[in-house]
Amino acid sequence: MPARELPSLHGKKIYIHAMIRGGARLMAAAFRAAGLDAEVTPPSDAATLEIGSRCTGGDECFPARITLGDYMKVLLEGKSDPARTVFFMPGADGPCRFGQYAVHLRRVLREHGFEQTGIMSPSCADGYQMPPALHRTGWRAVIASDILLKLLLQHRPFELEKGSADALYEECVEHVARTIESAPLTPRAQLRAIRRALIVCRDRFRALPVRRDPDAPLLGVVGEIFCRLNSFSNADLVRRLEEYGAQVWLSDVAEWVWYSHAEQVRLLKLAGRGFSLEAFATRIRAWVQRRDERYLLAPFARDFAACTEPSIEEILEAARPYLPQHGAIGEMVLNVGKAACLARRGVDGIVDISPFTCMNGVVSEAIYPRLSRDLGGIPIRNFYFDGTAADLDADLGVFMELVRSYRARKAAARVRPGAGLPVLTGRQAAMAHS
Ligand code: SF4
Repeated sequence: MPARELPSLHGKKIYIHAMIRGGARLMAAAFRAAGLDAEVTPPSDAATLEIGSRCTGGDECFPARITLGDYMKVLLEGKSDPARTVFFMPGADGPCRFGQYAVHLRRVLREHGFEQTGIMSPSCADGYQMPPALHRTGWRAVIASDILLKLLLQHRPFELEKGSADALYEECVEHVARTIESAPLTPRAQLRAIRRALIVCRDRFRALPVRRDPDAPLLGVVGEIFCRLNSFSNADLVRRLEEYGAQVWLSDVAEWVWYSHAEQVRLLKLAGRGFSLEAFATRIRAWVQRRDERYLLAPFARDFAACTEPSIEEILEAARPYLPQHGAIGEMVLNVGKAACLARRGVDGIVDISPFTCMNGVVSEAIYPRLSRDLGGIPIRNFYFDGTAADLDADLGVFMELVRSYRARKAAARVRPGAGLPVLTGRQAAMAHS
């Protein structure tokens, strides 16, 4: 069901898959703010894997199994009236099976007799356009989710009371979700309200009792967007890395949206429509989104000073010697470019989280040895997941040894995210570590 069929969404319940549980709650709040009934899928569990496996043939990638399993679980366990249910399933183009998720879900729904169940599927081909009332609020929910996750990861490894950072994150998600849902829909008033809510969260995180360890290695985490952000899929690898003494800089969701914009512009140029109405609309949309992002991020200048995200242009430029944007498409470009950017910003190691059999992960893995050599020998390690229980301890132990030894011998020191250091611009931070 394309986004333009908004009127048919009224009276329906839209389920949003919890790729990131907090982020999905904020997105559901954005839907509700637009007058739609939305809910997050129940937590993934063994039934998710079992149903997902039953509904797939083995060629689908792991995230397809999880999303399909969670969505079908809602219907098969009788949690929602199939005729009133709509599943939110964004798509993507490129050398990736993600573009087939909605098609496959439609087929599975039909096979199970759920023809009446709807699918809402904005795609990267249209820059993830959604109903107007939802598009901008949804984008703000994405930025807010990225910010809250960053705050969590900056504090959790150093919390004095175990579980306090997670508990605070939950409270902050709830606070921002309530704000998104109740704030006026007028763009300016809504933006201000979300920013105020985020400032409250920032101040609460700043007050969280922590003891920062200046020797904790900082790891950049890249990889396939679903698997790296969905803790159920990746066996909670980020938390495991923290248990091994690391602090994690996790690639966010906004990065993929900016990449989609860049691709849309490139493809329009390629088709000789670089100056078309469509290209103009794409640029205006990107300009508005960038302005919202800057406004919401501004109060965090000090908090995120040492982990300013590279722009999409910087990421694509960093990827160019290995995977130029015009020669490769999708997450592999982002993985390689972002890994290079993070290494230049001073991280002590890179982890790539990918689903087993994902071509993006496999291509990136083939390039990492050269990238590592070019970047002074920084350790880069792929971790693949397919839902089978694996003992990660041996691999994590060895990798962390490599990280610590690289950290001890690398020439450039670095500033630590969240340490309350003076504000550096992205360029200054990059120069400080070059
Ligand atoms: S990036 Fe890989 S795992 Fe993700 S949807 Fe595409 S093919 Fe599947």
